[in-house]
Amino acid sequence: MHEMSICEGILQVIEDQAKAQQFARVKRVRLEIGPLAGVELEALTFSYDVVTKNSIAHESKLEVIELPVNGWCMPCAKQVSVAARYEPCPDCGSYQVEITGGDELRIKDMEVE
Ligand SMILES: [Zn+2]
Repeated sequence: MHEMSICEGILQVIEDQAKAQQFARVKRVRLEIGPLAGVELEALTFSYDVVTKNSIAHESKLEVIELPVNGWCMPCAKQVSVAARYEPCPDCGSYQVEITGGDELRIKDMEVE
């Protein structure tokens, strides 16, 4: 499962941070995920629990912040947020929106002790 390796990557970051900042336990991890990242949230939460078992992040809570899809609307000549890929510009209704973001997947922050 693709989500499993994502979670292994997250845990790796957490453990590196733990070493660098010398914390012993993680209480909460907040992830920012764009709708185009291709991540199944349910599978991600499940994988997270499996991967973090017996780790420093054991019993930590995974919170997901879903980001909008960002695009550049050509007629408006500005940055807009659209609901999904191939959706029109919310301001002018044009389909000439070039997607510039939405596939993000990153740790926003974490709560540790
Ligand atoms: Zn527009």
